[in-house]
Amino acid sequence: MDLHEYQGKELFRRFGIPVSDGRLATTPEEARAAAEELGGPVVVKAQVLTGGRGKAGGVKLATDPADAEQKARDILGLDIRGHVVRRLWIETASDIAKEYYLSVTFDRGAKQPLFMFTTQGGVEIEEVAANSPDALVRLHVDALEGYQPWIARRLIYGAGVEDPGEQKQLAAIVEQLYACFVGADAMLCEINPLIVTPDGQVKALDSKFTVDDSALYRHPDIAAYRDNAAADPFETFAREKGVTYVKLDGSVGILGNGAGLSMSTVDVVVVAGGQPANFCDLGGGGSAEGVVDALEVITRDPQVKSIFFNIFGGITRCDEVARGILEALRRMEITVPIVVRLDGTNSVEGRQILADAAAPNLHVAPTMLEAARLAVELAA
Ligand code: GDP
Ligand code: MN
Repeated sequence: MDLHEYQGKELFRRFGIPVSDGRLATTPEEARAAAEELGGPVVVKAQVLTGGRGKAGGVKLATDPADAEQKARDILGLDIRGHVVRRLWIETASDIAKEYYLSVTFDRGAKQPLFMFTTQGGVEIEEVAANSPDALVRLHVDALEGYQPWIARRLIYGAGVEDPGEQKQLAAIVEQLYACFVGADAMLCEINPLIVTPDGQVKALDSKFTVDDSALYRHPDIAAYRDNAAADPFETFAREKGVTYVKLDGSVGILGNGAGLSMSTVDVVVVAGGQPANFCDLGGGGSAEGVVDALEVITRDPQVKSIFFNIFGGITRCDEVARGILEALRRMEITVPIVVRLDGTNSVEGRQILADAAAPNLHVAPTMLEAARLAVELAA
């Protein structure tokens, strides 16, 4: 789950990382009141779950409360790469002398957390990595050993920070960021820019924060941060139904039982020349109720032009899935064609049930590849 900047900063603050004082606002009037409370110049910042807000006009300085109200009016409703701005973070403006970058993320390849630090912050880190790779210090952390003071020293000296005051503050922030990363079960904690003010204070001016969905059960406070209005509506609906679902951009709706088979189904649709509209895992069991829920989720997406139902019966019984499909067809009006491939436990019975039903728009294919080809053809 991705957090908004202000939510990430709230967690930063909890772990001792310095951030500016700020207020949340959803209307221009609230932005004005926030600026009045904070006093002095403020920054009006769009809270959307995407980066590069500055370049897109979503971050603006305001000199006084009236200006903050005007800037809020400009930014609210703005569409930043498909994300409509509904919330603003109003914070005390900072003077910036330097912009650094610090992050800790989970490197799945290395199976270890990875720190990245550079004094060339403020721009996208991919740019730094491409144009001046030597300026980017990367360092893995042994999760069992945990944080050790040499980690911060290696990052700070490696990047060439010479000011002792900065070094001291940065070392504290590196340690706090690691504690935050572990404490929140994060997948990513990124500070860009991590600024140094003209009087030498180091401070997080932005936050990018991703929390491991599987760990949310033990962080009810973070789980409550979920912004359903900003999330994909199909994925929100799927979560409510308890269906494992990821929205994709193509036209072939995909339903498999088990994550592995569902992934293969995505692949085979691409091999057959199509594009998957989603990834959807029915899981084991495959009760009629589960099938109905999954079909309800998939057919909500208007991009779906055909559905490929790929079942390999192990624990899941194909006859039960077949009955689930027919039950779903009885309960809701599905206008797109469905291609079903049933194999494994009770597949003969399952196919017979579907054949007997002779439902229009329901096709049964004997193999995975043939089913994929047919689904792709029907989606065209
Ligand atoms: P992003 O574009 O989504 O990464 O949003 P950021 O929060 O990083 O803000 C973008 C840029 O706005 C920063 O890199 C800063 O240059 C600038 N900015 C943000 N807050 C302040 C501030 O308090 N004072 C000044 N002078 N600039 C700021
Ligand atoms: Mn930023």
